[in-house]
Amino acid sequence: MSEKKIKKITELTCSEVQNLINSVDIVLFDIDGALLVNSLPLPGSTELIAKLRKLNKDIRFVTNNTLYSIETIKDNLRFFNAEHKDIFTPIPSLLEYIKLTNYTQDIYVIGSSTVTNILRQNGLKIIEFKDIHPSLHIEETGVALKELLLKALEIFQVADALLRNIKSIKLISGISDDMTPLARNLMVIGTKYYLDGLERWSGMKAIPMAKPAHELGDILKSVLNITDSQRVLMVGDNVETDIGFGVNSGFKTFLVLTGATTKEQVEIWKYSESLKPDYLAQDLEDLYEKIKEM
Ligand SMILES: [Mg+2]
Repeated sequence: MSEKKIKKITELTCSEVQNLINSVDIVLFDIDGALLVNSLPLPGSTELIAKLRKLNKDIRFVTNNTLYSIETIKDNLRFFNAEHKDIFTPIPSLLEYIKLTNYTQDIYVIGSSTVTNILRQNGLKIIEFKDIHPSLHIEETGVALKELLLKALEIFQVADALLRNIKSIKLISGISDDMTPLARNLMVIGTKYYLDGLERWSGMKAIPMAKPAHELGDILKSVLNITDSQRVLMVGDNVETDIGFGVNSGFKTFLVLTGATTKEQVEIWKYSESLKPDYLAQDLEDLYEKIKEM
């Protein structure tokens, strides 16, 4: 198989980049590391989004973050005038899945209070570890979460017991990071570790609801009436989640080097060949510079 050539935005002419923009109707943005860093807009991001909107592009935001409510995410995106309907997370994708499969039984949730609250508001019957062990009540702040992590094994043992003992049970996953930032300077073992364990112990495969799974892309396509996936551009900083999501959903893909991926990682490509993005830029300013005269 011949190697795919990643197109660098700075090496393309303005008209080539403008043709790219003309070839899409919808632009999906990852948030952290692509648009924002430490809650502040990255270079060129606000100008780019304003420009794309002027060009009648439909701008949406796709994040795996389920720690924050949509209201909080919307507030974090205030620089970009995001509205509630513009934000997609694994939670709406899970709700859609539950609706499609007519699921009405109890759901054991290992997740943030944002997740459990939204599921409850949608009339679903939720069981959490603290319902089984009422003495466990820990506020979801950075330091207290550290205590919660010490309980993680017990929390996952309950899940394992359920998976082994209930016939026709399903395992559904959200974000599956290897490491997760809980707070500034507090990186902890991510959900991938526990999910891998659950899959191995139970012999079940999780149904994923977060990027890079195409399931989230399917929801987007149905909500946004997307008939031609190639008229969608996915922009993000993470090869495995953002570019993987774009590839799995059939979208055009655009990698920026303002977050999870370094220039060296692109130069010495260590991911699978299929995860190579169509386009690459150091930051969104590079893209804005090429289209600002459009
Ligand atoms: Mg990101």
